[in-house]
Amino acid sequence: MKITDLKIHVLKSPLAEPFAFSQGWVKQRSATLVEILTDGGITGWGEAFAQGLEPPEIAAAVIDKALKPLLIGADPLDMEVLWHRMYHMTRDYGRKGSVVSGISAVDIALWDIAGKFHELPVYRLLGGAFRTRVQPYATGFYRIKGQGEAKRLGEEAIRHFEAGFSLMKVKLGYGVDDDIACMQEIGRAVQGKPITLMVDTNHAYGRAEALKLGRALDEYDLRWYEEPVVPEDVQGYVEMRHKLSMPIAGGENEHTLYGFREFIGAGAVDVAQPDLGSCGGLSAGRHIIALAQSHGVQINPHVWGSAIAQAASLQFIAAVPVAHHSLFAQEPVLEYDRSSHPFRQHLITRPIQQVGGWVEIPSGPGLGVEVDRAVLEKFRV
Ligand code: CA
Repeated sequence: MKITDLKIHVLKSPLAEPFAFSQGWVKQRSATLVEILTDGGITGWGEAFAQGLEPPEIAAAVIDKALKPLLIGADPLDMEVLWHRMYHMTRDYGRKGSVVSGISAVDIALWDIAGKFHELPVYRLLGGAFRTRVQPYATGFYRIKGQGEAKRLGEEAIRHFEAGFSLMKVKLGYGVDDDIACMQEIGRAVQGKPITLMVDTNHAYGRAEALKLGRALDEYDLRWYEEPVVPEDVQGYVEMRHKLSMPIAGGENEHTLYGFREFIGAGAVDVAQPDLGSCGGLSAGRHIIALAQSHGVQINPHVWGSAIAQAASLQFIAAVPVAHHSLFAQEPVLEYDRSSHPFRQHLITRPIQQVGGWVEIPSGPGLGVEVDRAVLEKFRV
């Protein structure tokens, strides 16, 4: 079997109501999808992580100009060989960011092809399923105005709970005082209910403010405190881990085994969060699992994107071992973005959904999903 072509699909849709995370206002949804065609008649799908503020055309150009010439004519089942070829040939201008996101999209599509070729779900090729379903956590609590929205956020917590979510992650990083006011309101709203909270500041603060916030949040028994400082400040992460009581999480802005070696090796996190669409895909995800296991660090992937990224993440989550085995070990959870997205769910014929507090991991061949071409065409730029 040989790769005959790569088609790149850039999708965009403006949001009726823009929302903010700590780094800026998200005004549109976008996605960079890649479709790899083969002479065997099998097609694979992949997606590059497009952070809310990132133009999706960057990863698209990487795939088109830098990666496609390395792939045409190659055997798509050589996933590991092709990963290294793509990484080596882009090293001098890549290693991080959108270049690795482009590699990630291609790699995911190659695993999709391999699964379809062997007629097995990707998790079987990764070594089998540790779990067939995963508990989702609601990512939400974005801001519509900016600050002073504590009351609305308390109500939002109840809405997630009533929709079946008992785990939820609160976006913070809008000023420490405003963050604390919001958490007090959310804490009151969820009191007495079986709800576990996490927080994520998207690296809004320097060490002093990040510590001040962390200390103020001690009472909420957080499952984790995500991206407390900028990803470059690895020692800042280490300091948070030493000085705060809750687990520290991060990694959505780190890339490949080499990036995670510094991050995990330094003792920066309790929970490492590679994003399949930017860490280097499933091949790199597999490398990072081995690294994390050797350091006793839990892997819990970051998930942001359309249904293709979600499907790849589900296959990966199925194959992630727990970091600390016991009868009642803590299992990985699925990041489930609850903010508005015009095409995320409808991009595949059978949308990924939370039912009764769980998300089933698709067991069909490859990523286990089928793209709805009508939806693809509708949002294609
Ligand atoms: Ca995050």
